[in-house]
Amino acid sequence: MILALLLACQGEPGPSAGPTTAPVAEAAVFAMDAPAPAKHALLVVIDTLRADLAAEAATPNLDALDAAGASVPRAWSAGTWTVPSVVSIFTGMSVRQHGYDERTGQLGRYPLLPEVPMLAQELEARGFACEGFFANPYLSEELGFDRGFQSWRRSVDKVMPDQLAQSVNESWGDGQRHFAYIHLIGPHSPVRPGPEARARHDLEDHWFEDRKDLNIGRVKRNDPPGAADVYTRAYKAVVEDTDARLGQLVEALGPHRKDTVILVTSDHGELLGEHDIAGHGYWVWEPLTHVPLVVDHPGVPGPEESLPATLGIASVPALLFHALGLEGSWSTAADAALPLASQREGKLALSPDGHTKGVWHTSQLEVFDLRNDPGETRPLASDQGLVEARARWEASIPEGTLGAASGELDPATRAELEALGYTEQAPPPAGP
Ligand SMILES: [Zn+2]
Repeated sequence: MILALLLACQGEPGPSAGPTTAPVAEAAVFAMDAPAPAKHALLVVIDTLRADLAAEAATPNLDALDAAGASVPRAWSAGTWTVPSVVSIFTGMSVRQHGYDERTGQLGRYPLLPEVPMLAQELEARGFACEGFFANPYLSEELGFDRGFQSWRRSVDKVMPDQLAQSVNESWGDGQRHFAYIHLIGPHSPVRPGPEARARHDLEDHWFEDRKDLNIGRVKRNDPPGAADVYTRAYKAVVEDTDARLGQLVEALGPHRKDTVILVTSDHGELLGEHDIAGHGYWVWEPLTHVPLVVDHPGVPGPEESLPATLGIASVPALLFHALGLEGSWSTAADAALPLASQREGKLALSPDGHTKGVWHTSQLEVFDLRNDPGETRPLASDQGLVEARARWEASIPEGTLGAASGELDPATRAELEALGYTEQAPPPAGP
């Protein structure tokens, strides 16, 4: 069996209103010889997981999926906070397309998710039973994240493997096809690694005595001095704990493991002091935009499975549709061969090739060559064609708009979001 993701140019740019329309300028074409589509799908999104620190941490379960399957070396988040990025994962659209580019830190009313086809709805229409477990309170039914899911349950990381195992044991043998969405929150502030991971990373227990003790606010305030170093070690420790959860989730599939495509990615990363910033507000720097993306389709041995070197997380529905052998909405991925684009409240990062990166934090463009300057500290003298690339990209992707803010988060959800630090977002400073 050979599974290949072939990228092909298809002539002049054309308009594209969403996943159900014709592909735009450069479209990805999935081709499969002797197809062996997976029966079921498990999509795991690990909140706030930046690619470089995930690579530094010990993640044997993610590595095993990568070894058996394939990964995208330069996968990019669509946005840099949870809601817009997960909307991209669920719709196959960039933030520009779906239009959910709202500010965090305003814990009152939010717009409902755009009225466009969502992954679970499209799978449901093809006979799948869809269920989701999420640990980030933002993914609430109030905003519409439950669309297409028969069951959409708030949970916590450590319980989700048992919940998934129970569901698999009870219903996955019923002859239906199944899709499970799991949203883990481990690496999100406040970080609380377990005792063994703390010991591995030389973390003293006093950091974790209060639930909010080691939060990203300490890195922002450098309180106490050196907090960024402690936090970074604790972050890696939590990533390792979260990887153990991933291993348990894979195990929970039991005998269905061999029929299930597993995709693991993240909604965005985290700044841990780079550019003198901590957290994931307002910016589109590399620690926020570069995330892991691993696909293991068990019918396809690793070396024969190929993925592009660069891909946005809005390609997730296309990757899953392809692995499941489905036609329709995302069987060609309009997003796949487009430039990497990550957007945040008017700010934009764009990279046509995965290493030349344009950053517009204001109307002014800075261009970095990530091969020589991974820290994005030495802007190049010329624009490297990025101004034109942005104009081309914007011309090829219509801008989506949302209705008025009408999704009311309930008081308990708001309190939980405050505990996660969403009200600590400082307003963006003026200037570049
Ligand atoms: Zn998030």
